[in-house]
Amino acid sequence: MRVERIALSGFRNYDEETAVFEPAVNVICGPNAQGKTNLLEAVYLLTGAHSFRTRFDRELIGFDCDWGSVLADVESAGRSQTVKLLFRRDQRRQVTVNGAKKTSAALAGMMTAVLFSPDDLYLIKEGAAARRRLMDNAICQLRPGYASLLADYNKLYENKTRILKDWREKPSLLSALDEFSDGLARCSARMIRYRASFAERLTAAAAPIHRDFSGGREKLDISYKTVSTVTDPRAPAEEIYAQICAHQAAHRQAELDAGTCLTGIHKDDLEIALDGMSARSFASQGQARTAALSIKLAEREIFKAETGEYPVLLLDDVLSELDAARQEFVLNRIGGGQTLITCCEDENISRRTGGRVFTVKDGHIR
Ligand code: ATP
Ligand code: MG
Repeated sequence: MRVERIALSGFRNYDEETAVFEPAVNVICGPNAQGKTNLLEAVYLLTGAHSFRTRFDRELIGFDCDWGSVLADVESAGRSQTVKLLFRRDQRRQVTVNGAKKTSAALAGMMTAVLFSPDDLYLIKEGAAARRRLMDNAICQLRPGYASLLADYNKLYENKTRILKDWREKPSLLSALDEFSDGLARCSARMIRYRASFAERLTAAAAPIHRDFSGGREKLDISYKTVSTVTDPRAPAEEIYAQICAHQAAHRQAELDAGTCLTGIHKDDLEIALDGMSARSFASQGQARTAALSIKLAEREIFKAETGEYPVLLLDDVLSELDAARQEFVLNRIGGGQTLITCCEDENISRRTGGRVFTVKDGHIR
C-alpha cells in the first residue's frame, strides 16, 4: 500500500503543490510551521478517517480558499487508484475513487495509514481518551461498518447529553431520553464486539514486539475495559445490548441528577499492563515510551495481517523525541512498507534509511 503521487490545492498552507513519493522511505524536512505535518495529514485523510488534528473539515481548507482538495494516486493490492477528496465550507466532504463517488467509510481498507506522533509516546500515561482514539482510528480504517456506527453513536450521544443538560428548563425533552439511550445501547453492543476483537489482536501483536524491545525482560498485556455489566465483550450483540440496558436503567436517575451521560462506551479504555502491573500507574517514563512504541508498531502489523500489505507509516517528528536505541529499534522495523518521516533537520535520517529527502518551505515541496 502506498501513495505514489499527491497533489494538494487549497489544502492548509498549500496553494497548489505536488509530490511524488518513493515506495520506501521519504524524509520530509524543513523548519517549523512550513507544512510538514499538513502533508502527513493530507496522506492520512486518504484513509477516509477524520483528520488526526481536527474534527472539522473546514479547518483543512486554506484560509483564503473556498474549497480545498487532495488528489492522490494510491497503489493498493497491486492496483493503482486515484482518490480525490474535496473539502468545502459548510458541506460534507466529497470523495471519489477513479472518478466514481464514494462515502468516506468506503475508503476503509483500501488505503490504510498508521500515524505516529510525539503525543503517542504518552499513550500509556494519558487519560483513556487517547487509547479510545487509537482503537477508533484503527478500526475505522479496517471496518467500514464501524466508522458508521461511531458516527451514529456520536450523534446519539450529543442528543442525549443535551437532554440531560437541559431537561430542568425544558421537561418536555425527557420524552425522548429513553429512545436515545436505547439507540446508544444498540450501537454500543456492536461497537464493543469490534473493540474487544481489536484489543485481542493488539495484545497478540504488541506482546512479541515489546518482548524484543525490552530484551526479553518485560511482558506487555492489553485488555479491553467497557461498561461494567458486560460480562463477555465478544458475546452476541443481543446479549451485550441487554446488559448495557441494565446498566443504563440502574444509572438513569443518577444521569438526570448529574446532568451528564454517565454510562456508555465513551468511557471505554484499554488497560495496559507490564509484567501484570498497571502501566498507567507504575511504568517508568522509559517503560511507558517503549510500550507505546510497541503498540504503535503492532498496529502496523495488524493492518498488514488484515489487508495483506503494510499501511503507510507516518512518523511525525517522533524520532527526535527518542533516544538512539529506540530510534534504531523503530528504524529497523519500518521495512516492507512506505514510510513518511518528518523532521526539522535531516539528522542523518536519509543516510540511515536510504530515504529520499523532500524539503518543505512555506507550503512548497522540493
Ligand atoms: P513543526 O515543525 O512545527 O511541526 P510543520 O512544518 O509540521 O511545523 P504544519 O503543522 O504543517 O507545520 O503547519 C504549517 C502552517 O500551516 C502553520 O503555520 C499553520 O498556521 C498553517 N495552517 C494551518 N491550517 C491552515 C489553513 N487552513 N490555511 C492556511 N494555513 C494553515
Ligand atoms: Mg509538524
